[in-house]
Amino acid sequence: MPRILVTNDDGVYSEGLHALADALRSIGDVFVVAPLGEASAIGHALTIARPLRLERLREGVYSVDGTPADCVNLGVVHVLMGLPDLVVSGINKGYNLGDDVTYSGTVGGALEGALLGTPGIAVSLERTSDPFDFGPAAAATERIAAQVLRHGLPSRTLLNLNVPRGVPKGVKVTVQGMRNHVTQVAASMDPRGRPYYWIEEGEDTYADGERADHVAVREGYVSVTPLQPDLTAHAALAIVEKLV
Ligand code: MN
Repeated sequence: MPRILVTNDDGVYSEGLHALADALRSIGDVFVVAPLGEASAIGHALTIARPLRLERLREGVYSVDGTPADCVNLGVVHVLMGLPDLVVSGINKGYNLGDDVTYSGTVGGALEGALLGTPGIAVSLERTSDPFDFGPAAAATERIAAQVLRHGLPSRTLLNLNVPRGVPKGVKVTVQGMRNHVTQVAASMDPRGRPYYWIEEGEDTYADGERADHVAVREGYVSVTPLQPDLTAHAALAIVEKLV
């Protein structure tokens, strides 16, 4: 059986993590190594200024008091004692679309897998006020994960899956869309009379784009975007050559 390392950024007690792990157990040996607490919007961060604790919660389920990228590293070195065949991160409560992938701890976990030489998959489900139904997202991920295990991915590549609520109409391969970026910072006063600030989720106004991830999910499809760690703006190379 292939070995699958599962992590997330909502924490080791998130239902989405265990729905994902349960679905993947039909196609591989699953090892869950996930943050002890909430690590959303922590991106690809590594914890380097303090020690980390790895705790075994039960057979095949471990927590790390760190980030998703920490979990992948500790999982590879101290749980699996080697690279897995696949790293899967999620199921996140809420989309990771467009520019938001740069903040996403869910994507950060899968990205760390890709950097270490293992195919990575990040999966996120549309946020709802109702209890989340992870079933369709877990099933879609299991199917795509089986394909990746069978056929592989180009090196240093991860897949970013976003799944709309309900039963998806199908799957669309997409590109990372763009958001008209508005970060809101609320200001208020603490009980001791000192101001505090709280960064709120920006407005979800996405720029139109052919093949964009947010268009696919809005139309009811699972969006699958191949991502890579190379952030080079290749189209800007010639311009910057002239600039410097
Ligand atoms: Mn999250």
